[in-house]
Amino acid sequence: MKEFATFVTHLECSYTGKTYPADQLHGLSEAGKPLLVRYDLDALAKAVSKDELRNRIPEFWRYREFLPIRKSENVVRLGELMTPILPANKLQQELACGEILIKDEGRLPTGSFKARGLALAVAMAKELGVTRMAMPTNGNAGAALAAYCSRAGIETYVFCPEDTPKVNIEEIAFQGAKTFLANGYINDCGKIVGEGKDAMGWFDTSTLKEPYRIEGKKTMGLELAEQMNWQVPDVILYPTGGGTGLIGMWKAFNELEAIGWIGSKRPRMVAVQAEGCAPIVKAFEEGERHAEPWQDAATIAAGIRVPAAVGDFLILDAVRESDGFAVAVSDEAINVAHQECATKEGILLCPEGAATLAALKQELLSGRIKSDEQVMLFNCATGLKYPMKSEHKTIDLTQPIDYEFIKGA
Ligand SMILES: *Cc1c(COP(=O)(O)O)cnc(C)c1O
Repeated sequence: MKEFATFVTHLECSYTGKTYPADQLHGLSEAGKPLLVRYDLDALAKAVSKDELRNRIPEFWRYREFLPIRKSENVVRLGELMTPILPANKLQQELACGEILIKDEGRLPTGSFKARGLALAVAMAKELGVTRMAMPTNGNAGAALAAYCSRAGIETYVFCPEDTPKVNIEEIAFQGAKTFLANGYINDCGKIVGEGKDAMGWFDTSTLKEPYRIEGKKTMGLELAEQMNWQVPDVILYPTGGGTGLIGMWKAFNELEAIGWIGSKRPRMVAVQAEGCAPIVKAFEEGERHAEPWQDAATIAAGIRVPAAVGDFLILDAVRESDGFAVAVSDEAINVAHQECATKEGILLCPEGAATLAALKQELLSGRIKSDEQVMLFNCATGLKYPMKSEHKTIDLTQPIDYEFIKGA
């Protein structure tokens, strides 16, 4: 049994600061808020150096000292490679703005950054003896849960709103999860999971209702800082549903500063939502720390159709502390940005990723993003999972080929 050097000291309620022992199964804190993992950062800093990192395999387990797994045998691997940061030069020129960088998370296992969170959640569940997990999902999280649980030998139940993208439903079921569609939203599905705990004996893996998905998503912040030679961009635009990634990156930057690997500069964190489901934007604008549940949520960007987020205050705190903001974009603007990035940059975004480009365009005009700021957009899933409007013509092979017709296409 090989042990990792791990530096977890305890868990802490993100709301009250109350501490909880590590190495036990936890859901939310007694206050009903997310638990955060805390580390002995001094010991961590002595155990690993930037130089040492450089020689490690380019996957996110290279940051294992920053992660809570104790035994390497519990790590569940599907090839968690580091994702590229792609410059979008043509868009930058066209928008006459600072450098645009796209962190393309669609390369991860199961085609989305949900793999980061679920790889950690499943590994920790395995370490703590869990044999059955359940989750509500708009698609990508369920797919990652199904894949990692199948690999770990853990039974899985997944509940999706009935209008979840079809390919997600299929991949969840195909990868071995017991899959259910319900005529409601992700929060309604979450209720099924929460209220079924006793009857079903499953572990609730809902966003932020267990402590380890944040730690997995934290690797985005560690990774982008390392890739940028321990610098951070001026602005990060993040498509925000439950907000795990935004909260996770914020935690990463704080831990990196605490060990002296980055300075005090933080990116301005911008939470991007869709006009049809923008609870965080509304709370931001009204100066609130908590968001009211959004009614009749609707957007083509399924991954950010989250009417109520249990970590709302953590998202809003990070956005405000960073001098960032929260902003909503229309589905129409998402569609335009989606197409633009595909034809101009050759980068096939997911609609949620396209929302960040739409937000950039909008906020360069409003002046909330300055034309000399370097921005990083998050593309969180492969565009191949989503419907694409495309134009094509057909050729009848029983007739002579008409090249004039082809030229005119
Ligand atoms: C889950 C998801 C999001 C939102 O991520 P959070 O960290 O939960 O806010 C955005 N885009 C896609 C494609 C997703 O699957």
